[in-house]
Amino acid sequence: MQKISYSIIPADPAAHLYEITLTVERPAPEGQVLSLPAWIAGSYMIREFAKNIVSISAASGKKPVALTKLDKDTWRAAPCKGPLAVTMQVYAWDLSVRTAHLDQHYGFFNGTSVFLRVHGAEHLPHELEIRAPKGVRNWKVATSLPRSKGTKPQAFGSYVAPDYDALVDHPVEMGSFAAGGFEACGARHDIAITGRVPGLDMARLEADFKKICEAQIRFFEPKTALAPFLDSSDRYVFMTMAVGDGYGGLEHRASTALVCNRNDLPQTGSADSSEGYRNFLGLVSHEYFHTWNVKRIKPAVFAPYDLSRETHTPLLWLFEGFTSYYDDLILARAGLMTEDQYLKALAKTVSGVLRGPGRLKQSVAQSSFDAWTKYYRQDENSPNAIVSYYTKGSLVALYLDLSIRTRTRGRKSLDDFMRLLWTRFGRDFYQGKPQGVAPEEITGLMKQATGLDLSRELHLATETTQDLPLEPLFAALGISYSQRAEGSTPSLGVRTKGQGSDCVIATAFNGEPAHAAGLSANDVIVAIDGLRATPGNLDGLLSRYRAGDTVTVHAFRRDELIDVRVKLAVPPATSVKLIASDKAALEKRKLRRQWLAA
Ligand SMILES: [Zn+2]
Repeated sequence: MQKISYSIIPADPAAHLYEITLTVERPAPEGQVLSLPAWIAGSYMIREFAKNIVSISAASGKKPVALTKLDKDTWRAAPCKGPLAVTMQVYAWDLSVRTAHLDQHYGFFNGTSVFLRVHGAEHLPHELEIRAPKGVRNWKVATSLPRSKGTKPQAFGSYVAPDYDALVDHPVEMGSFAAGGFEACGARHDIAITGRVPGLDMARLEADFKKICEAQIRFFEPKTALAPFLDSSDRYVFMTMAVGDGYGGLEHRASTALVCNRNDLPQTGSADSSEGYRNFLGLVSHEYFHTWNVKRIKPAVFAPYDLSRETHTPLLWLFEGFTSYYDDLILARAGLMTEDQYLKALAKTVSGVLRGPGRLKQSVAQSSFDAWTKYYRQDENSPNAIVSYYTKGSLVALYLDLSIRTRTRGRKSLDDFMRLLWTRFGRDFYQGKPQGVAPEEITGLMKQATGLDLSRELHLATETTQDLPLEPLFAALGISYSQRAEGSTPSLGVRTKGQGSDCVIATAFNGEPAHAAGLSANDVIVAIDGLRATPGNLDGLLSRYRAGDTVTVHAFRRDELIDVRVKLAVPPATSVKLIASDKAALEKRKLRRQWLAA
């Protein structure tokens, strides 16, 4: 078997440069083709990572080998006989979970940003040597990449991936991070927190993460309680970057990279559970759930991934939406959210979906398919034009789950469907059975899991733009659903953002007063009826009027002053409240308990 090996070193942290050397023992004699991915799994946008390659050269022994660039991210090395060594420097100065970062304090990379693919050798084991930067002593390494013999946990040294797909699915973090760890259902989990967090309560994180992980492992494997990632690594790693303001995550087969707001992390000595901390735990729960749902249960077109070009699927509502549904639900089931907190968070999601007129233009299947050009490339008109397969997708899951629970009187649920997907597609995915879910199979799989024909509900929820009939379903669980306007201030029908002291229209909702009067996104509102408007006082100014009153709005469009007459309206009734009743019939309360309890 031929050997594919890489080394990576933080060569110049101040210039944010990694140096990577790839060695191909027996390159293709007619010329070895090499390429860098154009996107990273889990983030559906073409990112063209090759743009960060600052220099690249090839040699065989001491002899240089010519590299011909074939397109934006592909090269051919020819002629080459003996071992081929390709060295490149990659610029890494993006503090996101999707690419790579390096400075004097911290390094992080995804393989998709730094490791060339050796065409024709993707299926072979790929070795990796991770080297410490010169002169640095106290750095550690956090990664779920399997270690070679002789490499200690969290140490620089040799690692090995079974193939290229695995090599780029185990990101690596290095630095002097705060380290924690715990066992969940007997499986090792590491936590690495980078960024300054004074007074961080690691013990609290360990205890709460453990609850989430155990609840999810038992959800999918109630009999064996076997953790899913043991097919790929001896541990799961939570890599977390704490910053002043940030939120996001990316899932991998045995790890996740997270960015969070440092003030959302718990502090030693305080047992409070802030909304920010619950949001962070929701993110942890979301990414961990992906270990099953999208890293192993996948759309058929992702098995395997083609990272060279867009791969469209109409099913992101199932992989992102259902994951978004279960992230908070599992916090509630694990006791990390009260029933009241859970229903409030759920009501917020329903309200958010109802506020966007775009939900009437795009179904979640369309939104999934066009993720590459629409969801991931949003602009000021997006709320009018698209719906999120995350939030609407989570409501699709809710709608189906409550429909199944009420129709089967609590005997079946969406949980049964998820477990069927897991045993059918997920459990053996990395053990030689890489098969994914095709869109046309879903109705049949739901019938198999629940005994119900849900084709009508699935069609309504995923292929149409109709609002989901949630009210009667909540009623069946003894939860009252109401929809009213948010506040009593008459509405312009805009979402605004502050830019310094400017009050800028971020979105003018289609069909609402500002749009009807000719105002538009990016217009700067300077005055209402001659009184100066700022980001802080717009609502105060409007609260002196009533719905139906007409006001003059002065605004700058670019640098030209315009004024328009706007007839204020009653704010749309999109604010949802969910209230559980303790006095509901026993059967209803029982259904609710089954839904929210472990
Ligand atoms: Zn996700």
